[in-house]
Amino acid sequence: MQYYQYCSVLTIAGSDSGGGAGIQADLKTFAALGCYGTSAITAITAQNTLGISDIHVVPPAMVQNQISAVMSDIRPLAVKIGMLPNAETVQAVADVLKKHEPLPIILDPVISSSSGKQLADNEALLAMKELLFPMVTLLTPNLNETTQLTGKHAGNVDDMINAAEALLDLGSQAVLVKGGHLDGLELYNLYADRQGVRKTFAYPFINSLNTHGTGCTLASAIAAYIARGQSITEAIASAGVYVNIAIKEGQNVKTGEGSGPLNH
Ligand code: PLP
Repeated sequence: MQYYQYCSVLTIAGSDSGGGAGIQADLKTFAALGCYGTSAITAITAQNTLGISDIHVVPPAMVQNQISAVMSDIRPLAVKIGMLPNAETVQAVADVLKKHEPLPIILDPVISSSSGKQLADNEALLAMKELLFPMVTLLTPNLNETTQLTGKHAGNVDDMINAAEALLDLGSQAVLVKGGHLDGLELYNLYADRQGVRKTFAYPFINSLNTHGTGCTLASAIAAYIARGQSITEAIASAGVYVNIAIKEGQNVKTGEGSGPLNH
């Protein structure tokens, strides 16, 4: 019998009972892009399309055990990290990832949901900067996260370049600052890396209520395309197309009474 290597990806993130964001969005994305998804759950959220009503933090030792179980056997080709609720979880994730061979790590530094619920406390942010950013291949903050991490407001392209450079000073190999507006018709993400590459990725702006989980989906699609062998900037371009189509496909689908998920 001849075996072939399956392209597997690990997500370390929070569970969304509503199915639109977090672990559920990540696993859906990996499957859609031909990868085998594994997961380490950092927190369980009780949520639906209207918001988050409760959060249960998984003990950090259990987060480590999930990661070790996957790493020692299934060996992912890339890792996506999402919700890390507190500094103890950040420390646990950094410690256990250090024990394994360097892997591409995509970190979506989630701070709060679009519905306004805090998903990581201030100590978690400080710990992420100190312990995780230096291990990260690509950091994918939105504009609000960029401002909270650097103190720099990013609105236009020049501001975004300055903010991206301030983020790079925090230690990751590359950053993708998401969500600039060019003229209300286009939205763009700015890529910057330590080799001096600066690149914008522009998308037609789609006016949809159903954008819950967009950030999680983009970061996991980037991880999946990297696991499939694409370079970081190729993976960002491919993932952008995937998310754009998923937003468009979800625009007229009603799931719950509030901000629904992408359709993918
Ligand atoms: N729930 C979980 C577990 C998440 O990880 C996130 C974002 O990363 C959200 C909810 C919020 O998603 P959104 O802001 O797209 O609604």
